[in-house]
Amino acid sequence: MEIGTPETVKEVLINADQLRSRVAELGAQITADYDGKNPLFVCILKGAVMFLTDLLKNVNIPSQVDFMQVSSYGGATESSGIVKIIKDLDISAEGRHVVIVEDIVDTGITMKHLIELLSARRPASLNICALLDKKERRLVEIPLTYVGFEIPNAFVVGYGLDYAEYYRNLPFIGVLDPQVYRS
Ligand code: 5GP
Repeated sequence: MEIGTPETVKEVLINADQLRSRVAELGAQITADYDGKNPLFVCILKGAVMFLTDLLKNVNIPSQVDFMQVSSYGGATESSGIVKIIKDLDISAEGRHVVIVEDIVDTGITMKHLIELLSARRPASLNICALLDKKERRLVEIPLTYVGFEIPNAFVVGYGLDYAEYYRNLPFIGVLDPQVYRS
């Protein structure tokens, strides 16, 4: 099986239409909730980029965007539990209404560290907007204010999410054939 090819995605879990309409709903909800608050969106690189850009097109209030990158899976499909900042924010989070935009919350370990890290910078508020929630895998409790979809325990790719940097370009969320990472 060649990595990155269509036949290595064994099932479409969420199609492009479903993504479009749910992301529009989230954008509308955030627009209403953050009216007059000038939110700072913190996009977690790289997986949340496609979600962020579609989400922002549906946010119709003054807002700013910044990016952070933390270490996660690398080439494997299980979390190491070690979270390291690779790229920090350029804009100060102090006193801001921060919305963390993340692709997926799995064990919750990455998000727990991010919350601790950003809370220490004294934002006015801190909420999380996650496209996908793999709830049954959770090891630490995380308050998720905005969730696109709850998904079952499977390794998913597409719409920004990768395996070994492949599959980010897919316009849908699909389940990766385990043969790809077992071989
Ligand atoms: P956690 O710390 O919650 O276990 O993992 C969070 C990070 O692991 C996510 O930001 C994402 O990068 C990665 N991750 C978790 N589950 C999946 C998955 O099913 N597919 C992909 N591509 N990445 C995942």
